Amino acid sequence: MTGKMLINGALVDGAATLDVINPATGQPFITVARADQAQLEEAVAAARAAAPGWAALGYAARGVLIARLADAMAAEQDALAHLLTTEQGKPLAQAQGEVRAGIFQLRHYAAQTGEPIVLRETADCRIVEHRTPLGVVAAITPWNFPVLMVTQKIGPALITGNTVVLKPAPTTPVCALRIAELAAGIFPAGVLNVIVDANDLGGALSNHPDVAKVSFTGSTATGRKVMAAGADSLKRITLELGGNDAAIVLDDMDPREIAPKLFNGAMMNAGQVCLAIKRVYAPDAIYDELCAELARLAEAATVDDGTRQGAQIGPVQNRMQFEKLLGYLEDAEANGTVIAGGKPLDRDGYFIAPTIVRDIPDDARLVREEQFGPVLPVLRYTDVDEVIARANTGDYGLGGTVWGKDLDRAVDVAMKIDSGTVWVNKHLDLPFDIPFGGAKQSGIGREGGDEGLAAYTQGHVVNIALC
Ligand code: ADP
Repeated sequence: MTGKMLINGALVDGAATLDVINPATGQPFITVARADQAQLEEAVAAARAAAPGWAALGYAARGVLIARLADAMAAEQDALAHLLTTEQGKPLAQAQGEVRAGIFQLRHYAAQTGEPIVLRETADCRIVEHRTPLGVVAAITPWNFPVLMVTQKIGPALITGNTVVLKPAPTTPVCALRIAELAAGIFPAGVLNVIVDANDLGGALSNHPDVAKVSFTGSTATGRKVMAAGADSLKRITLELGGNDAAIVLDDMDPREIAPKLFNGAMMNAGQVCLAIKRVYAPDAIYDELCAELARLAEAATVDDGTRQGAQIGPVQNRMQFEKLLGYLEDAEANGTVIAGGKPLDRDGYFIAPTIVRDIPDDARLVREEQFGPVLPVLRYTDVDEVIARANTGDYGLGGTVWGKDLDRAVDVAMKIDSGTVWVNKHLDLPFDIPFGGAKQSGIGREGGDEGLAAYTQGHVVNIALC
């Protein structure tokens, strides 16, 4: 692992360097290259120069190279998972799952064929839609899934014939740089470029005149800036933003059976998942028992350095998020009843005890805002229509879950939740061929599925007279 960036086919040092912190210790564990504005320009120029040749290769040849990157990742998947845990904090088993998913995802995209679609064929005309690449795609990724967010963007961008400048989050650039090292020997120069910043180049990348599309995953606040930055050159944008997903438990559920599913849905990756369960609504009849069961699971969970055997919940990823969560813990203490956790662990690193909060009002910050951490409010409801209205409150609409034995009733509730995805009796099932994305201010556009793939292309309709 050199920590170098990939620009125009070469692994290069940065104009500056960046220390990357292991969130389990709070200490730097590696120093990597960091770009300045001139290196960003080089990366965009290289991507632009490489675009026509890459587009001309066609799906099959591009797919071979993308599959080769997947193979290279597979050949070192344990080492990559270890790197992932060290920079991001998640337990090793979750990191292994993420790396595996990233590899599958690249293979899924490598297998796409991009066949033209015959829109109409009659005796006197034939109309065919081709999907052509956009040009240079800026892929800007967050720190919660440093491998999967990379494959999720470079896979569809590259297979459809675009070239890429990838900028990972400054607190988790290491896996992206390792993927860049692997890619350096695979793709033609300039097809994939990876640069690192210290949160100072995202703006310049997202309003660069030679960038045709920005695929961004991150906070709603930054997503707004990306959208504004794209206005001048009418960039295509895909924005996967924040969420405040409600889990609605119906009154025919057994609280003991449901509690572990809710707990995992809220605490996986220390709660740092856009689609995590961020608030639970439980009916009067089972409220007390469900709260007690969730608290028991929180107290029993092993919180530790993700590389340690048995760790179920790791640290949160960075100091800023850790401090933000301390604010939510204060809010929980002041406005609700904390029945498990409630404080950081007394050790180095950014560890927060998994926290369950009950009897907290809907207008508390912990309920209204996206906490993005292992702190879960559990709210009581009486009437199903009332709880649907409460779940739909606010500007977010990313995901949500409904849990009930009576499937018709559960599906009926799911239909009324104003979100891009609602799962019924399951959570976080995201096959690569199914589109997902946000309603309201949780995003624009979709990733995954045909819709997600099409978002990296533009339609090119050829309309032919046959007589
Ligand atoms: P968070 O607030 O959770 O750190 P962000 O949405 O700020 O999340 O970060 C997601 C990604 O967006 C990161 O790669 C970050 O460096 C990048 N970023 C930050 N500011 C901007 C900006 N103005 N334009 C584009 N990307 C940005």
